[in-house]
Amino acid sequence: MILHSTAGRSPSVTFREALLRGLASDGGLYLPTAMPHLDPDTLRSWRPLSFSQLAVRLASGFLSDEFPADVLERLVGDALSFPAPTVKTTPRHCILELFHGPTLAFKDFGARFLARFFGHLLDQRGAVATILVATSGDTGSAVAHGFYGVPGVRVVVLYPRGKISPFQEAQMATLGGNITALRVPGTFDDCQRLVKEAFLDPDLDHLELSSANSINIGRLLPQMFYYIASYLAVADLDADEVAFSVPSGNLGNLTAGVMAQRTGIRVSRFVASCNINDVLPEFLQTGVYRARPSVETLSNAMDVGDPSNFPRLLEMHAGSKRVLRDNILGTVVTDEETRSTIRRVYETTGYVLDPHGAVAYLGAERLRMVHGFNGITVALATAHPAKFAAAIESVLGFEPELPPQYRDWATRKSFAEDLDDTTYPSFRRVLERAVPNT
Ligand SMILES: *Cc1c(COP(=O)(O)O)cnc(C)c1O
Repeated sequence: MILHSTAGRSPSVTFREALLRGLASDGGLYLPTAMPHLDPDTLRSWRPLSFSQLAVRLASGFLSDEFPADVLERLVGDALSFPAPTVKTTPRHCILELFHGPTLAFKDFGARFLARFFGHLLDQRGAVATILVATSGDTGSAVAHGFYGVPGVRVVVLYPRGKISPFQEAQMATLGGNITALRVPGTFDDCQRLVKEAFLDPDLDHLELSSANSINIGRLLPQMFYYIASYLAVADLDADEVAFSVPSGNLGNLTAGVMAQRTGIRVSRFVASCNINDVLPEFLQTGVYRARPSVETLSNAMDVGDPSNFPRLLEMHAGSKRVLRDNILGTVVTDEETRSTIRRVYETTGYVLDPHGAVAYLGAERLRMVHGFNGITVALATAHPAKFAAAIESVLGFEPELPPQYRDWATRKSFAEDLDDTTYPSFRRVLERAVPNT
Protein backbone atom coordinates (compact mmCIF):
# COMPACT_ATOMS: atom_id res chain seq x y z
CA MET A 1 0.00 0.00 0.00
CA ILE A 2 1.26 3.44 -0.91
CA LEU A 3 0.38 6.43 1.22
CA HIS A 4 0.91 10.14 0.74
CA SER A 5 0.83 13.10 3.07
CA THR A 6 -2.16 15.48 3.12
CA ALA A 7 0.35 18.35 3.25
CA GLY A 8 1.84 17.15 -0.07
CA ARG A 9 5.43 18.10 0.70
CA SER A 10 6.97 14.77 1.74
CA PRO A 11 7.63 11.54 -0.18
CA SER A 12 5.11 8.72 -0.48
CA VAL A 13 5.67 5.85 1.93
CA THR A 14 4.66 2.23 2.51
CA PHE A 15 2.25 1.21 5.27
CA ARG A 16 5.21 0.03 7.36
CA GLU A 17 6.82 3.44 7.20
CA ALA A 18 3.59 5.33 7.80
CA LEU A 19 2.86 3.19 10.84
CA LEU A 20 6.26 3.73 12.43
CA ARG A 21 6.33 7.46 11.69
CA GLY A 22 2.77 8.38 12.66
CA LEU A 23 2.92 11.92 11.32
CA ALA A 24 4.52 12.73 7.94
CA SER A 25 7.71 14.82 8.05
CA ASP A 26 5.88 17.79 6.49
CA GLY A 27 3.36 17.73 9.35
CA GLY A 28 0.63 16.19 7.17
CA LEU A 29 -1.41 13.04 7.79
CA TYR A 30 -0.98 9.88 5.73
CA LEU A 31 -3.78 8.72 3.42
CA PRO A 32 -3.81 5.70 1.09
CA THR A 33 -3.19 6.88 -2.48
CA ALA A 34 -5.40 4.16 -3.99
CA MET A 35 -8.13 1.99 -2.49
CA PRO A 36 -8.77 -1.67 -3.42
CA HIS A 37 -12.09 -2.05 -5.26
CA LEU A 38 -14.61 -4.52 -3.80
CA ASP A 39 -17.04 -5.82 -6.40
CA PRO A 40 -20.49 -7.16 -5.41
CA ASP A 41 -19.60 -10.80 -6.21
CA THR A 42 -16.58 -10.75 -3.91
CA LEU A 43 -18.64 -9.05 -1.22
CA ARG A 44 -21.41 -11.65 -1.57
CA SER A 45 -18.90 -14.48 -1.20
CA TRP A 46 -17.69 -12.91 2.07
CA ARG A 47 -21.15 -12.82 3.67
CA PRO A 48 -20.77 -16.07 5.66
CA LEU A 49 -17.45 -14.98 7.23
CA SER A 50 -17.05 -13.97 10.87
CA PHE A 51 -15.88 -10.42 11.53
CA SER A 52 -12.29 -11.48 12.15
CA GLN A 53 -12.22 -13.65 8.98
CA LEU A 54 -13.61 -10.74 6.97
CA ALA A 55 -11.03 -8.40 8.53
CA VAL A 56 -8.19 -10.72 7.44
CA ARG A 57 -9.53 -10.71 3.83
CA LEU A 58 -9.89 -6.94 3.80
CA ALA A 59 -6.49 -6.34 5.36
CA SER A 60 -4.80 -8.47 2.71
CA GLY A 61 -6.42 -6.31 0.01
CA PHE A 62 -4.36 -3.43 1.39
CA LEU A 63 -1.30 -5.10 2.82
CA SER A 64 -0.52 -8.29 0.90
CA ASP A 65 2.37 -6.55 -0.90
CA GLU A 66 4.02 -5.79 2.47
CA PHE A 67 3.23 -8.80 4.67
CA PRO A 68 3.03 -12.56 3.95
CA ALA A 69 -0.44 -14.12 4.22
CA ASP A 70 0.32 -16.11 7.39
CA VAL A 71 1.60 -13.00 9.19
CA LEU A 72 -1.48 -11.01 8.21
CA GLU A 73 -3.77 -13.78 9.34
CA ARG A 74 -2.03 -14.02 12.71
CA LEU A 75 -1.80 -10.25 13.41
CA VAL A 76 -5.26 -9.29 12.17
CA GLY A 77 -6.99 -12.36 13.56
CA ASP A 78 -5.44 -11.73 16.96
CA ALA A 79 -6.13 -7.95 16.94
CA LEU A 80 -9.76 -8.17 15.83
CA SER A 81 -10.85 -11.27 17.67
CA PHE A 82 -14.18 -9.88 18.91
CA PRO A 83 -17.47 -9.35 17.03
CA ALA A 84 -18.97 -6.15 15.60
CA PRO A 85 -22.67 -7.03 15.29
CA THR A 86 -25.32 -4.84 13.66
CA VAL A 87 -28.67 -5.08 15.45
CA LYS A 88 -32.05 -3.78 14.26
CA THR A 89 -34.20 -1.48 16.39
CA THR A 90 -36.77 -0.88 13.64
CA PRO A 91 -37.00 -2.56 10.21
CA ARG A 92 -34.94 0.14 8.44
CA HIS A 93 -32.82 1.39 11.32
CA CYS A 94 -29.90 -0.41 12.94
CA ILE A 95 -27.18 -0.03 15.54
CA LEU A 96 -23.61 -1.13 14.85
CA GLU A 97 -22.23 -2.26 18.21
CA LEU A 98 -18.55 -1.41 18.50
CA PHE A 99 -18.14 -2.07 22.21
CA HIS A 100 -17.38 -5.79 22.40
CA GLY A 101 -13.59 -5.39 22.65
CA PRO A 102 -11.55 -5.59 25.86
CA THR A 103 -12.12 -1.97 26.96
CA LEU A 104 -15.75 -1.88 25.82
CA ALA A 105 -15.29 0.96 23.34
CA PHE A 106 -14.53 1.26 19.64
CA LYS A 107 -10.97 2.50 20.18
CA ASP A 108 -10.06 -1.14 20.76
CA PHE A 109 -10.23 -1.79 17.00
CA GLY A 110 -7.58 0.80 16.15
CA ALA A 111 -5.41 0.36 19.24
CA ARG A 112 -5.15 -3.43 19.00
CA PHE A 113 -4.48 -3.44 15.26
CA LEU A 114 -1.79 -0.76 15.58
CA ALA A 115 -0.21 -2.54 18.56
CA ARG A 116 0.04 -5.90 16.80
CA PHE A 117 1.65 -4.42 13.68
CA PHE A 118 3.91 -2.12 15.66
CA GLY A 119 5.13 -5.04 17.78
CA HIS A 120 5.72 -7.15 14.66
CA LEU A 121 7.78 -4.43 12.93
CA LEU A 122 9.89 -3.87 16.05
CA ASP A 123 10.44 -7.58 16.43
CA GLN A 124 11.66 -7.86 12.82
CA ARG A 125 14.23 -5.16 13.47
CA GLY A 126 15.20 -6.59 16.85
CA ALA A 127 14.17 -3.26 18.36
CA VAL A 128 12.33 -2.21 21.52
CA ALA A 129 10.18 0.83 22.26
CA THR A 130 8.49 2.70 25.07
CA ILE A 131 5.04 4.05 24.28
CA LEU A 132 4.00 7.13 26.25
CA VAL A 133 0.32 8.04 26.50
CA ALA A 134 -1.31 10.87 28.42
CA THR A 135 -4.98 10.12 28.88
CA SER A 136 -8.09 11.60 30.39
CA GLY A 137 -9.71 8.17 30.29
CA ASP A 138 -10.54 6.00 27.31
CA THR A 139 -7.64 6.31 24.90
CA GLY A 140 -5.16 5.21 27.57
CA SER A 141 -7.03 2.05 28.41
CA ALA A 142 -7.45 1.06 24.76
CA VAL A 143 -3.73 1.61 24.10
CA ALA A 144 -2.69 -0.19 27.30
CA HIS A 145 -4.86 -3.19 26.45
CA GLY A 146 -3.72 -3.09 22.83
CA PHE A 147 -0.05 -3.39 23.77
CA TYR A 148 -0.51 -5.63 26.80
CA GLY A 149 1.80 -8.62 26.37
CA VAL A 150 3.29 -7.36 23.08
CA PRO A 151 7.01 -8.30 23.27
CA GLY A 152 9.59 -5.49 23.12
CA VAL A 153 7.09 -2.79 24.00
CA ARG A 154 6.64 -1.06 27.32
CA VAL A 155 3.68 1.29 27.80
CA VAL A 156 3.61 4.12 30.33
CA VAL A 157 0.14 5.66 30.73
CA LEU A 158 -0.17 8.93 32.61
CA TYR A 159 -3.50 10.04 33.99
CA PRO A 160 -4.66 12.72 36.44
CA ARG A 161 -5.20 11.25 39.91
CA GLY A 162 -8.84 11.32 40.98
CA LYS A 163 -10.01 12.80 37.68
CA ILE A 164 -10.92 9.63 35.82
CA SER A 165 -13.57 7.12 36.81
CA PRO A 166 -12.55 4.21 39.09
CA PHE A 167 -13.55 1.80 36.31
CA GLN A 168 -11.38 3.61 33.75
CA GLU A 169 -8.48 3.52 36.20
CA ALA A 170 -8.96 -0.18 36.88
CA GLN A 171 -8.88 -0.88 33.13
CA MET A 172 -5.35 0.53 32.94
CA ALA A 173 -3.94 -0.18 36.38
CA THR A 174 -4.90 -3.83 36.85
CA LEU A 175 -2.99 -5.13 33.81
CA GLY A 176 0.57 -5.08 35.18
CA GLY A 177 3.22 -6.79 33.03
CA ASN A 178 4.53 -4.39 30.38
CA ILE A 179 1.98 -1.70 31.32
CA THR A 180 2.92 1.01 33.84
CA ALA A 181 -0.06 3.05 35.04
CA LEU A 182 1.16 6.33 36.46
CA ARG A 183 -1.07 8.54 38.62
CA VAL A 184 -0.13 12.18 38.28
CA PRO A 185 -1.06 14.56 41.13
CA GLY A 186 -2.30 17.23 38.69
CA THR A 187 -4.42 17.70 35.60
CA PHE A 188 -4.62 16.08 32.17
CA ASP A 189 -2.63 19.06 30.87
CA ASP A 190 0.18 18.19 33.31
CA CYS A 191 0.19 14.65 31.92
CA GLN A 192 0.44 15.94 28.36
CA ARG A 193 3.22 18.36 29.27
CA LEU A 194 5.29 15.60 30.89
CA VAL A 195 4.94 13.42 27.81
CA LYS A 196 5.99 16.29 25.56
CA GLU A 197 9.04 17.04 27.70
CA ALA A 198 10.11 13.40 27.56
CA PHE A 199 9.89 13.39 23.75
CA LEU A 200 12.17 16.44 23.63
CA ASP A 201 14.73 15.02 26.08
CA PRO A 202 17.83 13.74 24.21
CA ASP A 203 18.94 11.82 27.31
CA LEU A 204 16.00 9.46 26.78
CA ASP A 205 16.87 8.57 23.18
CA HIS A 206 17.87 5.07 24.26
CA LEU A 207 14.27 4.36 25.32
CA GLU A 208 12.99 4.76 21.71
CA LEU A 209 9.98 6.75 22.85
CA SER A 210 6.93 6.56 20.65
CA SER A 211 3.28 7.54 20.82
CA ALA A 212 0.37 5.44 19.65
CA ASN A 213 -1.13 8.62 18.34
CA SER A 214 -4.71 8.74 17.21
CA ILE A 215 -3.66 10.16 13.84
CA ASN A 216 -1.68 7.00 13.00
CA ILE A 217 -3.02 5.36 9.82
CA GLY A 218 -2.63 2.03 11.63
CA ARG A 219 -5.61 3.02 13.74
CA LEU A 220 -7.84 4.08 10.84
CA LEU A 221 -7.39 1.07 8.59
CA PRO A 222 -9.11 -1.49 10.86
CA GLN A 223 -11.96 0.93 11.48
CA MET A 224 -12.89 0.66 7.79
CA PHE A 225 -13.58 -3.03 8.25
CA TYR A 226 -16.63 -2.76 10.50
CA TYR A 227 -18.38 -0.42 8.06
CA ILE A 228 -18.00 -3.06 5.37
CA ALA A 229 -19.11 -5.83 7.75
CA SER A 230 -22.18 -3.83 8.72
CA TYR A 231 -23.03 -3.01 5.11
CA LEU A 232 -22.84 -6.74 4.29
CA ALA A 233 -25.04 -7.56 7.26
CA VAL A 234 -27.89 -5.14 6.48
CA ALA A 235 -27.95 -4.31 2.78
CA ASP A 236 -29.40 -5.99 -0.28
CA LEU A 237 -26.26 -5.40 -2.35
CA ASP A 238 -28.20 -4.63 -5.54
CA ALA A 239 -30.89 -2.41 -4.14
CA ASP A 240 -30.28 -0.76 -0.79
CA GLU A 241 -28.84 2.64 -0.06
CA VAL A 242 -27.17 2.77 3.35
CA ALA A 243 -26.23 5.74 5.53
CA PHE A 244 -24.02 5.65 8.61
CA SER A 245 -24.40 8.06 11.51
CA VAL A 246 -21.06 8.47 13.28
CA PRO A 247 -20.65 9.98 16.77
CA SER A 248 -17.74 12.28 16.05
CA GLY A 249 -14.92 14.00 17.92
CA ASN A 250 -11.53 13.87 16.23
CA LEU A 251 -13.27 12.57 13.06
CA GLY A 252 -11.13 9.41 12.86
CA ASN A 253 -14.14 7.13 12.79
CA LEU A 254 -15.89 9.23 10.13
CA THR A 255 -12.70 9.33 8.03
CA ALA A 256 -12.49 5.53 8.19
CA GLY A 257 -16.12 5.36 7.04
CA VAL A 258 -15.40 7.51 4.01
CA MET A 259 -12.35 5.34 3.24
CA ALA A 260 -14.63 2.28 3.35
CA GLN A 261 -17.07 4.04 0.99
CA ARG A 262 -14.20 4.50 -1.49
CA THR A 263 -13.86 0.72 -1.88
CA GLY A 264 -17.10 0.91 -3.85
CA ILE A 265 -19.74 -0.17 -1.31
CA ARG A 266 -23.07 1.63 -1.77
CA VAL A 267 -23.01 4.02 1.12
CA SER A 268 -24.82 7.11 -0.02
CA ARG A 269 -24.48 9.37 3.01
CA PHE A 270 -22.82 9.92 6.36
CA VAL A 271 -24.07 11.87 9.33
CA ALA A 272 -21.38 13.58 11.41
CA SER A 273 -23.24 13.50 14.72
CA CYS A 274 -21.59 15.86 17.18
CA ASN A 275 -22.32 17.19 20.63
CA ILE A 276 -22.12 20.96 21.10
CA ASN A 277 -18.44 20.78 20.17
CA ASP A 278 -19.62 21.27 16.60
CA VAL A 279 -16.59 22.42 14.58
CA LEU A 280 -17.43 20.19 11.58
CA PRO A 281 -21.21 20.84 11.43
CA GLU A 282 -20.46 24.55 11.69
CA PHE A 283 -17.92 24.32 8.88
CA LEU A 284 -20.43 22.49 6.68
CA GLN A 285 -22.93 25.24 7.29
CA THR A 286 -20.77 28.36 7.17
CA GLY A 287 -17.63 27.30 5.31
CA VAL A 288 -15.51 28.62 8.18
CA TYR A 289 -13.29 26.27 10.21
CA ARG A 290 -13.26 27.71 13.71
CA ALA A 291 -11.05 25.78 16.17
CA ARG A 292 -11.84 26.55 19.79
CA PRO A 293 -11.43 25.17 23.33
CA SER A 294 -13.64 22.14 23.92
CA VAL A 295 -16.67 22.21 26.20
CA GLU A 296 -17.50 19.35 28.60
CA THR A 297 -20.55 17.24 27.70
CA LEU A 298 -22.18 13.89 28.55
CA SER A 299 -20.57 12.32 25.47
CA ASN A 300 -17.13 13.37 26.68
CA ALA A 301 -15.02 11.31 24.25
CA MET A 302 -16.35 13.69 21.59
CA ASP A 303 -15.39 16.89 23.41
CA VAL A 304 -12.94 18.06 20.76
CA GLY A 305 -12.42 21.66 19.67
CA ASP A 306 -9.97 21.16 16.79
CA PRO A 307 -10.55 17.73 15.21
CA SER A 308 -7.24 16.23 14.13
CA ASN A 309 -8.53 14.25 11.13
CA PHE A 310 -10.15 17.22 9.40
CA PRO A 311 -7.35 17.51 6.76
CA ARG A 312 -7.92 13.89 5.75
CA LEU A 313 -11.65 14.37 5.43
CA LEU A 314 -11.24 17.52 3.38
CA GLU A 315 -8.73 15.94 1.01
CA MET A 316 -10.98 12.94 0.40
CA HIS A 317 -13.65 15.39 -0.78
CA ALA A 318 -11.39 17.17 -3.26
CA GLY A 319 -10.84 20.01 -0.79
CA SER A 320 -14.36 21.19 -1.55
CA LYS A 321 -16.94 22.24 0.98
CA ARG A 322 -19.72 21.50 -1.50
CA VAL A 323 -18.52 17.93 -2.16
CA LEU A 324 -18.14 17.39 1.58
CA ARG A 325 -21.65 18.70 2.20
CA ASP A 326 -23.12 16.38 -0.46
CA ASN A 327 -21.63 13.36 1.30
CA ILE A 328 -21.84 14.35 4.96
CA LEU A 329 -24.71 15.84 6.91
CA GLY A 330 -23.52 17.62 10.06
CA THR A 331 -25.80 17.64 13.08
CA VAL A 332 -25.51 18.93 16.65
CA VAL A 333 -27.02 17.17 19.65
CA THR A 334 -27.28 18.83 23.08
CA ASP A 335 -26.93 16.94 26.38
CA GLU A 336 -30.67 17.37 26.95
CA GLU A 337 -31.39 15.77 23.56
CA THR A 338 -28.89 13.00 24.36
CA ARG A 339 -30.75 12.22 27.60
CA SER A 340 -34.19 12.29 25.97
CA THR A 341 -32.95 10.01 23.18
CA ILE A 342 -31.60 7.46 25.70
CA ARG A 343 -34.99 7.54 27.48
CA ARG A 344 -37.15 7.37 24.34
CA VAL A 345 -35.16 4.60 22.65
CA TYR A 346 -35.24 2.53 25.84
CA GLU A 347 -38.99 3.06 26.25
CA THR A 348 -39.86 2.26 22.64
CA THR A 349 -37.37 -0.53 21.84
CA GLY A 350 -35.81 -1.73 25.12
CA TYR A 351 -32.32 -0.87 23.79
CA VAL A 352 -29.94 0.90 26.20
CA LEU A 353 -27.71 3.41 24.38
CA ASP A 354 -24.65 5.04 25.89
CA PRO A 355 -24.43 8.85 25.47
CA HIS A 356 -22.20 8.62 22.36
CA GLY A 357 -24.43 6.08 20.68
CA ALA A 358 -27.46 8.23 21.55
CA VAL A 359 -25.94 11.22 19.72
CA ALA A 360 -25.47 9.01 16.65
CA TYR A 361 -28.96 7.55 16.96
CA LEU A 362 -30.63 10.96 16.96
CA GLY A 363 -28.42 12.01 14.04
CA ALA A 364 -29.67 9.01 12.03
CA GLU A 365 -33.29 9.82 12.89
CA ARG A 366 -32.82 13.39 11.70
CA LEU A 367 -31.43 12.17 8.39
CA ARG A 368 -34.61 10.15 7.97
CA MET A 369 -37.23 12.56 9.31
CA VAL A 370 -35.82 15.96 8.45
CA HIS A 371 -33.85 15.17 5.31
CA GLY A 372 -36.11 12.49 3.84
CA PHE A 373 -33.54 9.70 3.55
CA ASN A 374 -35.41 6.42 2.99
CA GLY A 375 -32.64 3.83 2.80
CA ILE A 376 -31.23 1.89 5.72
CA THR A 377 -29.67 3.93 8.51
CA VAL A 378 -26.98 2.54 10.79
CA ALA A 379 -26.02 4.40 13.97
CA LEU A 380 -22.61 3.55 15.43
CA ALA A 381 -22.65 2.74 19.15
CA THR A 382 -19.07 3.41 20.20
CA ALA A 383 -19.14 2.58 23.92
CA HIS A 384 -20.86 0.09 26.20
CA PRO A 385 -23.56 1.81 28.28
CA ALA A 386 -22.08 0.33 31.48
CA LYS A 387 -19.05 2.60 30.98
CA PHE A 388 -21.41 5.51 31.60
CA ALA A 389 -23.36 3.90 34.42
CA ALA A 390 -23.98 7.14 36.36
CA ALA A 391 -25.39 8.98 33.33
CA ILE A 392 -27.64 6.05 32.41
CA GLU A 393 -28.79 5.62 35.99
CA SER A 394 -29.80 9.29 36.16
CA VAL A 395 -31.89 8.94 32.98
CA LEU A 396 -33.30 5.41 33.21
CA GLY A 397 -33.19 4.81 36.97
CA PHE A 398 -30.98 1.71 36.77
CA GLU A 399 -27.34 0.94 36.05
CA PRO A 400 -26.62 -1.18 32.96
CA GLU A 401 -24.81 -4.40 33.75
CA LEU A 402 -21.16 -4.87 32.82
CA PRO A 403 -20.27 -7.83 30.61
CA PRO A 404 -19.20 -10.91 32.61
CA GLN A 405 -15.44 -10.46 32.14
CA TYR A 406 -15.55 -7.17 34.05
CA ARG A 407 -17.90 -7.95 36.95
CA ASP A 408 -15.02 -8.36 39.42
CA TRP A 409 -13.10 -5.23 38.38
CA ALA A 410 -13.39 -3.47 41.72
CA THR A 411 -11.56 -6.25 43.57
CA ARG A 412 -8.66 -6.74 41.15
CA LYS A 413 -5.12 -5.92 42.25
CA SER A 414 -4.00 -2.46 41.13
CA PHE A 415 -0.45 -1.89 39.91
CA ALA A 416 -0.83 1.89 39.71
CA GLU A 417 2.22 3.93 40.72
CA ASP A 418 2.11 7.47 42.08
CA LEU A 419 4.24 10.24 40.72
CA ASP A 420 5.56 12.33 43.66
CA ASP A 421 4.85 15.66 41.97
CA THR A 422 4.24 17.06 38.49
CA THR A 423 7.86 18.04 37.77
CA TYR A 424 9.72 16.53 34.86
CA PRO A 425 12.66 15.11 36.91
CA SER A 426 10.23 12.96 38.91
CA PHE A 427 8.70 11.61 35.71
CA ARG A 428 12.10 10.97 34.21
CA ARG A 429 13.14 8.87 37.20
CA VAL A 430 10.16 6.59 36.60
CA LEU A 431 10.91 6.34 32.87
CA GLU A 432 14.51 5.42 33.49
CA ARG A 433 13.33 2.54 35.62
CA ALA A 434 10.81 1.48 32.99
CA VAL A 435 13.29 -0.09 30.60
CA PRO A 436 11.60 -2.41 28.08
CA ASN A 437 11.81 -6.04 29.05
CA THR A 438 12.43 -7.91 25.84
C1 LIG B 1 -13.07 8.56 20.67
C2 LIG B 1 -14.54 8.31 20.76
C3 LIG B 1 -15.47 8.90 19.86
C4 LIG B 1 -15.06 9.87 18.79
O1 LIG B 1 -14.39 9.25 17.72
P1 LIG B 1 -13.46 10.10 16.72
O2 LIG B 1 -12.81 9.09 15.86
O3 LIG B 1 -12.49 10.85 17.59
O4 LIG B 1 -14.36 11.03 15.99
C5 LIG B 1 -16.81 8.56 19.97
N1 LIG B 1 -17.23 7.72 20.95
C6 LIG B 1 -16.39 7.15 21.84
C7 LIG B 1 -16.94 6.26 22.89
C8 LIG B 1 -15.02 7.42 21.78
O5 LIG B 1 -14.19 6.86 22.68
